[in-house]
Amino acid sequence: MSVFENYVPAVAQALQQRGLEGECSVCRKKGQQMIHGLPIAVPVYEEAGEVKYPGTSMPAAAVICNQCGAVQFFSLGALGLISPPGGGEAKAGGAAAN
Ligand SMILES: [Zn+2]
Repeated sequence: MSVFENYVPAVAQALQQRGLEGECSVCRKKGQQMIHGLPIAVPVYEEAGEVKYPGTSMPAAAVICNQCGAVQFFSLGALGLISPPGGGEAKAGGAAAN
């Protein structure tokens, strides 16, 4: 079973709990935002000898505005939808059981 089985509803819930109401921050249109169906890995470049959390990419949710095409990325870690590297499991799939 994929840990992202309940991914889109979990992201939507996390964003709503933080007060995001579905308004585009670029064109201000409401109700045109859609959450991309799978997580995005945003590359993180590392300085020499320094490893950045959580590694070489940052897992993120992509929210796309169907009106103006703007794409915004939201950190899955900051939204509490993934666990730190090396421990636990992602919460996105587990949210369905709650
Ligand atoms: Zn927009």
